[in-house]
Amino acid sequence: MTNPPETQPASIPRIGVLAIQGDYDAHAEALREAGAEPILVRKPEELAGIDGLIIPGGESTTFLKFLERGGFLDSLRDFVRRKPTFGTCAGCILLATEVTHPPQASLGVLDATVERNAYGRQIDSSIQTSDTELPGGPLEMVYIRAPRIVKTGEGVQVLAHRDGFPVLVEQGHIMAATFHPELSSDRRVHERFVELVRDWLRRQPRSGKS
Ligand code: GLN
Repeated sequence: MTNPPETQPASIPRIGVLAIQGDYDAHAEALREAGAEPILVRKPEELAGIDGLIIPGGESTTFLKFLERGGFLDSLRDFVRRKPTFGTCAGCILLATEVTHPPQASLGVLDATVERNAYGRQIDSSIQTSDTELPGGPLEMVYIRAPRIVKTGEGVQVLAHRDGFPVLVEQGHIMAATFHPELSSDRRVHERFVELVRDWLRRQPRSGKS
């Protein structure tokens, strides 16, 4: 029997949250509210069973130190090349092709240059409301020692700005935010990512595993 993708019911995607540090529980709750099944990921082998991944905020240097042990970074690099991934704040830094202030290693899948701690010291955290391309009007954005996306490549779609710089972007199966959407009650950003994962799943060959 044929089963054209467009007639399949809306699935509940299994979306991992990298649970090494940062506010991964808040992301898990946000994913649940947005219609996905969250899976906390702490080991490279746990990447195998998920349809997408969120890399949360935290400290990107600490993430890198942890990931460099036991081949986790290589597994993650392979995952983000193939499967939907959403990086917030430190996660956005990790996804970028180029990191500055200071330069550091990254996964290199988001065609962008990201400047770390671009808004000043730890104390420079803020909550702002900005217009966005997402339906439903302006969006609250929580910034914590936030990076700034200073340059994006042609394939990067900008969904929101702050002071003229992109703060929410999408490039194919990759999404990134310089703020913390999991700390606001508005679920539109997570819903957007869950939808991206569903779209990606619909486009996969029927044999499943990729
Ligand atoms: N300043 C952190 C870094 O450079 C990011 C901050 C955050 O994720 N809230 O990695």
